[in-house]
Amino acid sequence: MQPSKISKLEEKALKLLLKYGDKGLLQSELWHKLGVTSRDGSRIAIKLEKRGLIKRVKEFANDRWTRRLVPLVKPFDVSVLKGSPCPSCIYNNNCGADQTYSPTNCVLIENWLLSESLDQSKIVQINVKDQRS
Ligand code: SF4
Repeated sequence: MQPSKISKLEEKALKLLLKYGDKGLLQSELWHKLGVTSRDGSRIAIKLEKRGLIKRVKEFANDRWTRRLVPLVKPFDVSVLKGSPCPSCIYNNNCGADQTYSPTNCVLIENWLLSESLDQSKIVQINVKDQRS
């Protein structure tokens, strides 16, 4: 059985929670920001928890027990892909799992990763140098 797709509202809820990071949000605060009822909001939170995207932590706030919703995923930082050869690659449309070309055996991506790791080691060397002087 295929897992059901994430709904627009669930996606919006998760994006909002990601803004608050490890601190998360009280569920009532999230319902307010989403403009949904507590009943609909609870359904969204339970679905996101079942998918392993958030955790619902019991908390005493505003004189009653409630739940704090904390994201278990981190936003993807696309800046790490800066300089990757893939966006301008002529094989891009035929590249992927079970395709003619694959990142697992691509020389271009290997060279790019190697140059990135060399740059990182330069940064580490510079930082170590700075600390010694
Ligand atoms: S992995 Fe290699 S072949 Fe595939 S799109 Fe990127 S550069 Fe092109």
